[in-house]
Amino acid sequence: MEYYSQQISQLIAELSSLPGIGSKSAQRLAFHILHMPRGDVKRLSETILSARENVRFCKECFTLTDQDVCPICGDMKRDHKTIMVVEDSRDMAAFEHMKEYKGVYHVLHGAISPMQGIGPEDIRLKELMSRLQGDVEEVIIGTNSTLEGETTAMYISKLIKPTGVKVSRIASGVPVGGDLENTDEITLLRALEGRTEL
Ligand code: ZN
Repeated sequence: MEYYSQQISQLIAELSSLPGIGSKSAQRLAFHILHMPRGDVKRLSETILSARENVRFCKECFTLTDQDVCPICGDMKRDHKTIMVVEDSRDMAAFEHMKEYKGVYHVLHGAISPMQGIGPEDIRLKELMSRLQGDVEEVIIGTNSTLEGETTAMYISKLIKPTGVKVSRIASGVPVGGDLENTDEITLLRALEGRTEL
């Protein structure tokens, strides 16, 4: 990187600190940005800043949104008695993409992982439990089929069982070790329809 002047090196360093961006991609992006019209660069940086400043957690499901309540929780036509628990907002988007699920969601923002020191108190579990005080009939656990996702599913089902609310787990149509985000729609639909009660 010493070939580049300081400001270029700094831009490359900032970009390469993003997930999934190696040093080659960072250089490619940096030079792309430097060749972009000034107006486009301004719009891009303002979009990033404004999203960061205005996006917050939905008061109900804790997905990221720019309103108090996200569009899904605010939609009264949806079934608010069925809650699908997912690890992050991208998994929620994957389920939404197949347009079959009519319930609402709960976004944990992570999964329990003793290896990484992430415990139940580090994800939005307390918030899920307090939602169950309301009128809820079923909780569908839609966490990933990874070790962390399964551990979380087991933990949640044990927690919910005593409350009398029905708990189910999406079927293992999702490949073991698989990320929901990268699972195709048919597999996801089969996983939802073939869910089993825990
Ligand atoms: Zn919401």
